Amino acid sequence: MLIEKGNIDIMIDSHIHLSDKRYNQNFPFVKRVNETYTIEYGNRDQLILLAKEAGVTCCIEPAIDVDSNRLLLNLAAKYPGFVYPAVGNHPTRCIQSHIRDFRRVKEFASNKNVIAIGETGLDYHYERKEQHRIRQKIWFRWQIGLADKLRLPLILHIRMAHDDAIKILRKNRAKLHGGVCHCFVGDASVARIYTEELGLCLGIGGSLLMRPKISEPLCEAVKETPAKYLLLETDGPFVKPMRPENIIRKKWEKARNTSLILPSVANRIAELKNLPVEDVLRITEENTKRVFSLGQV
Ligand SMILES: [Zn+2]
Repeated sequence: MLIEKGNIDIMIDSHIHLSDKRYNQNFPFVKRVNETYTIEYGNRDQLILLAKEAGVTCCIEPAIDVDSNRLLLNLAAKYPGFVYPAVGNHPTRCIQSHIRDFRRVKEFASNKNVIAIGETGLDYHYERKEQHRIRQKIWFRWQIGLADKLRLPLILHIRMAHDDAIKILRKNRAKLHGGVCHCFVGDASVARIYTEELGLCLGIGGSLLMRPKISEPLCEAVKETPAKYLLLETDGPFVKPMRPENIIRKKWEKARNTSLILPSVANRIAELKNLPVEDVLRITEENTKRVFSLGQV
């Protein structure tokens, strides 16, 4: 059975950048009504209220760059029990980072509310100099070490870099305390390495709802990966689903992604795995709580 209006289930958004500046002031955002999407306007607090009304019980916000750590810790303090902070430095931002930033990230990580380290990992999507990749690897290894010291799980951002990332994770296997490979877009065999070999989960979000050309290998991976390894996420304000025909391109492009699309992701997982959507919601919620020790911090 698909989720219908009036039949509210609870869910967790395991990855959203709620303190991102794209959620400042009044902004257009994606809302889901009766199985279709609409665009509405509102501010951050209204969006959080709407998400709660829609059944989102909490969310995890990972860092993008070093400065973002302060913003997300502030938001987590404003919404205790709803926004759980993860502290780190995103791979695409490592090139702008300085030596002193290691100390800053470590200080942010000492905040008692922090539940994970991330986003960290490797991103080879953009054509960059070798120097950038070396920096990414330094920060990645360092953040694995920090997570180990604090006994925290990792939030991984791996894009077009599975081979190198898996090499580093295998070498540091003993330092891993679980975590998630967020916005996963690999195929079933890569999924198996992260899950069954490395004990990590996969974050599944808007990519599953994109054009078949993009989502096909991911659909296979979701089909074949045991449900105990799957988490729901949106990566809002980014990674929107495929544009629906009733919304013009310009309007869709401007709209921010939100946790309100989670039921669509859950429904698609349910279809692929031939499970009732209630089971998908319950299992992914349990998985998120288990991986990040939510409710125990
Ligand atoms: Zn993200």
